[in-house]
Amino acid sequence: MEKTLNNKNCSGCGLCSLICPKQCITLKKDKYGFLVPVVNEDNCIHCNKCVNGCELRQEEAKNFPLNIQAIQSRNKKILRKSTSGGAFYEVCKAFSKIYGKNINICGAAWEDNLILKHKIVNGIVSIGPLQKSKYIQSQASVIFPKIKCLLSNNEFVIFCGTPCQVHALKLYLQKDYDNLLLIDFICHGTSNDLVLKNCIQASINTSLMDDIQYNFRVKYKLHKYPYSVKIVNNHKVYKMRNDHFHSLFFSGSITRPYCKESCKYKNEHRYSDITISDCRGPEFKQVSSDLYSCVISNTEKGNNIVKRISGVKFKNYNFNLLKRYNPCFYEIEQTNNNSIFDDEYLEDPIRKIKKYGYQKNFLSPKEIFLNKIGIKKRTNH
Ligand SMILES: Cc1cc2nc3c(=O)[nH]c(=O)nc-3n(C[C@H](O)[C@H](O)[C@H](O)COP(=O)(O)OP(=O)(O)OC[C@H]3O[C@@H](n4cnc5c(N)ncnc54)[C@H](O)[C@@H]3O)c2cc1C
Ligand code: SF4
Ligand code: SF4
Ligand code: SF4
Repeated sequence: MEKTLNNKNCSGCGLCSLICPKQCITLKKDKYGFLVPVVNEDNCIHCNKCVNGCELRQEEAKNFPLNIQAIQSRNKKILRKSTSGGAFYEVCKAFSKIYGKNINICGAAWEDNLILKHKIVNGIVSIGPLQKSKYIQSQASVIFPKIKCLLSNNEFVIFCGTPCQVHALKLYLQKDYDNLLLIDFICHGTSNDLVLKNCIQASINTSLMDDIQYNFRVKYKLHKYPYSVKIVNNHKVYKMRNDHFHSLFFSGSITRPYCKESCKYKNEHRYSDITISDCRGPEFKQVSSDLYSCVISNTEKGNNIVKRISGVKFKNYNFNLLKRYNPCFYEIEQTNNNSIFDDEYLEDPIRKIKKYGYQKNFLSPKEIFLNKIGIKKRTNH
């Protein structure tokens, strides 16, 4: 017999599956595609370790933000491959300057068929697949035992993930390691691969998904909008200024219900050494080629690494601006947008996505340009 451990008050971090002494917990998809812990009751000895050890039951973090600044990488290639100003790359580079080129870096990377998992790469030269935000949940806990092994062998490790993943890793490790740097980001929430696939089908009007790739927040040379999308399906490339996934994700309609309603990580108590985020405010243009990242040090260890960042553009930033323009750092955002998950969605997800998703025509940068000069017009709907 199988039983869901908890699907309402759960971040899907997977820590309980690692804690269980009988290995009887696995993460499985719920009806909307979100990973939840499922117990095989035949092997369960009712020790309650999973419930008592759940990350959401543990005490709040003791780290509070110490410093904040805005940075932008001067390396054009890195900037283009990063979501905002390349803070993740620059922090890893600073860490590598101190601890050598063989540092281990762990972050979220695509596998086939839009599966997102945490992966470890060796050295900053291999960082490419980890860069860029992917706004669906990455399976991170599977890599925790490997991280523990590297740390025990005195190797240097950087882990970057959502605040709930960073907390889960800390609890799994059970002690602090000087050779570990923890990075999280201000986190609005995550969706999942099933929802992403449904959104792609709705956006490019196809039921055939072959060799599919999806790129969030692509920075195109030709236009400046920082939330463009690139989809590759069956060797066809679709470049869009917006799509159903981006539109529904940023309005909070397709995030995990726990992220939207009750996330305990949307506040200043940080489990990480460094928090990175987008940088918004009157002085910061939201132009794809000119975005800055915020870098917040939460510990002395983090602060020492941030101080070693060099060769980048710095700008002043402060916590008042952060509070005003990035409220997720302080509290759960109150929005009027409803989640799209209900019986209507289960009956026909594509129809529901089209009804509530992006309502304008999808045009590529080239098409936008041609439209502007009056040569061509094409719509996908
Ligand atoms: C799910 C999600 C929600 C976010 N919400 C906000 C927000 O509300 N406000 C805000 O200011 N910024 C948010 N961010 C952060 C933002 O998108 C950028 O990552 C940030 O500006 C840093 O950009 P960068 O250029 O320094 O680094 P990037 O090159 O973008 O590096 C991103 C880092 O995050 C890791 N990562 C990417 N996707 C995932 C994932 N799904 N799960 C775990 N780790 C991942 C990568 O491995 C990499 O280490 C969010 C990011 C994600 C992934
Ligand atoms: S009660 Fe104990 S044995 Fe049962 S699932 Fe939880 S941790 Fe595993
Ligand atoms: S430990 Fe993580 S996955 Fe397990 S119940 Fe708690 S929040 Fe959910
Ligand atoms: S919003 Fe909260 S629970 Fe959801 S992924 Fe982010 S940190 Fe985890």
